[in-house]
Amino acid sequence: MSRILIIEDEEAIADLEKDYLELSDFTVEIASDGIEGEKKALSEDYDLIVLDLMLPGKDGFEVCRSIRDKKNVPILMVSAKKDDIDKIRGLGLGADDYMTKPFSPSELVARVKAHLARYERLVNTNAKPENKIIEIRGLKIDKTARRVWVDGEEKQFTTKEFDLLTFLAENPNHVYTKDELFREIWDMESIGDIATVTVHIKKIREKIEFDSSNPQYIETIWGVGYRFKI
Ligand code: CA
Repeated sequence: MSRILIIEDEEAIADLEKDYLELSDFTVEIASDGIEGEKKALSEDYDLIVLDLMLPGKDGFEVCRSIRDKKNVPILMVSAKKDDIDKIRGLGLGADDYMTKPFSPSELVARVKAHLARYERLVNTNAKPENKIIEIRGLKIDKTARRVWVDGEEKQFTTKEFDLLTFLAENPNHVYTKDELFREIWDMESIGDIATVTVHIKKIREKIEFDSSNPQYIETIWGVGYRFKI
């Protein structure tokens, strides 16, 4: 069972979040100020932390930085101000996700689940360095050797191109927004924005597609993002 820590000073919000997360079988604890929250986050093991930005004692900026320095735990930051979210994104504090209040509790639960699944995947990938080959039609990806072949011919990829292609190929038929892909492949400290994703997709297509304007692997879902077709 996953343990979640909510650091939130508004009791009604904290309780609502707790109720919904508990309905989804999470074990939830609440810290009602920044100092208590930081202490709990550092001294105990949680699977995910929901961190409010405006907190008494120590604000969410400081708490996030301090947790990120010492622990590899997903942090979901929440704020009532959209401007603050933009600001913290820019600071690259290392939070995994951001939500603007008010949000629906079910959205919170969905995001929590998505981040836990992502962390689990990362941990598993690190723990088992097995030789993993992905083969989809004429495309062959060797994850361990980080090599790619298209119809038997090897193609050269940059690190990020390879990571992006592999991520999409491992999650076929799932539509990802550019924003999601940027967060997945580039860490928050990276310089760049979602236009980087577009550029990388274009480069990948030039290497793997027979006809880039009629892609057989990475499909553009207009107005949404991309999907790897299988
Ligand atoms: Ca607050």
